[in-house]
Amino acid sequence: ETVSPLPAKTRVITVSNQKGGVGKTTTTVNLAAALARRGARVLVIDLDPQGNASTALGVPHRPEVTSIYDVLLGELGLEDAMQPTTDHENLVCVPSTINLAGAEIELVSLVAREQRLRTALQTFLDAAEERYDYVFIDCPPSLGLLTVNAFVAADEVLIPIQCEYYALEGLSQLLGNIQLIQKHLNPGLRVSTIMLTMYDARTNLAHEVATEVRAHFPEQVLDAVIPRSVRISEAPSYGQTVHAYDGASIGALAYLESAAEIAERGAKAERAAKKQAKKN
Ligand code: ADP
Ligand code: MG
Repeated sequence: ETVSPLPAKTRVITVSNQKGGVGKTTTTVNLAAALARRGARVLVIDLDPQGNASTALGVPHRPEVTSIYDVLLGELGLEDAMQPTTDHENLVCVPSTINLAGAEIELVSLVAREQRLRTALQTFLDAAEERYDYVFIDCPPSLGLLTVNAFVAADEVLIPIQCEYYALEGLSQLLGNIQLIQKHLNPGLRVSTIMLTMYDARTNLAHEVATEVRAHFPEQVLDAVIPRSVRISEAPSYGQTVHAYDGASIGALAYLESAAEIAERGAKAERAAKKQAKKN
């Protein structure tokens, strides 16, 4: 029953990396679940047509389910697609369905095609009776219109990095794209958090990659590292987060530690911003 410092304002965090299999979805659901267990109210938006985040949260996402697709392409609000999770009462999810696979193309012809998610989310948050502390958006492994929508809707980007040989390859492309978004669509967006995932402490390579990433991004990389863990990889096949599946496992503890750091860093940034505002 740890109580996080809860943010003063909803933190909208996009979890992105155009590489597949680096731990985006795993990080999204397990961090969200960790924060929910620390007393935060959390919404996960599944923006990957694969629907892996929905699966891990025990949320149905058959093609006929109302989903983020209907919000982005139709007239529905986020609340119409939102579902409770089996994981925690503080954690809700807007699922994706396979229909979303066509959205990259269908979005092209729409007005304000880059802002659809932002508008839907802001409309929802403004009208919501309950407060939301965190919104996590799980991105597909590409830099297409869905990911652009996620960047435009968010305040923060969280980048999971797998501690392997090619980890830094592709990162400069991702950062370049984020700069373009900042310049043209969302000046407030910032890369707030980098997480090292699937860390295998037995290998020198993992250690070397971690050291290199920390040297490049001393402010962003969390102290906590997510180890490679069988419990983490098993949990989704039971429709569970690692916290529900084996809450005492090292993987669950690593996500709880990361969640604590993210909450603390957010509180620190809020204090700094307040101080700065007073000065001006
Ligand atoms: P992405 O969303 O970036 O494609 P996933 O989160 O789906 O990546 O992870 C890719 C695969 O790696 C999945 O099978 C997942 O269960 C596994 N995985 C993720 N994190 C870990 C970890 N810390 N330890 C072991 N397996 C992991
Ligand atoms: Mg994924």
